[in-house]
Amino acid sequence: MAFEIIESCVNCWACEPLCPNKAIYEARPHFMIDPDKCNECAGDFEESQCVSICPIEGAILNELGEALNPPGSLTGILPAKFAELVARQQAA
Ligand code: SF4
Ligand code: SF4
Repeated sequence: MAFEIIESCVNCWACEPLCPNKAIYEARPHFMIDPDKCNECAGDFEESQCVSICPIEGAILNELGEALNPPGSLTGILPAKFAELVARQQAA
């Protein structure tokens, strides 16, 4: 069970020092997670440290490819409201 960082990562370095397993490393074009080292912080923290600190929605995915900070989650806008706003913008 490991997480994945994808291309929307802005290379802010916030997550790298927090990983208890040193699973996060600098790479190009964005930071990466070593799947052999990431255990989702099990045994060390209740919340995954990288997900907790990451400022970019959708930059970290779980093993199912789902965004761990989905759209709207960091803005304080509820997902249903966010979807409504996106739909309204697209219709404009
Ligand atoms: S979930 Fe935890 S162990 Fe996995 S990369 Fe993030 S901080 Fe490291
Ligand atoms: S905290 Fe998020 S945006 Fe920053 S380096 Fe890590 S994955 Fe990338």
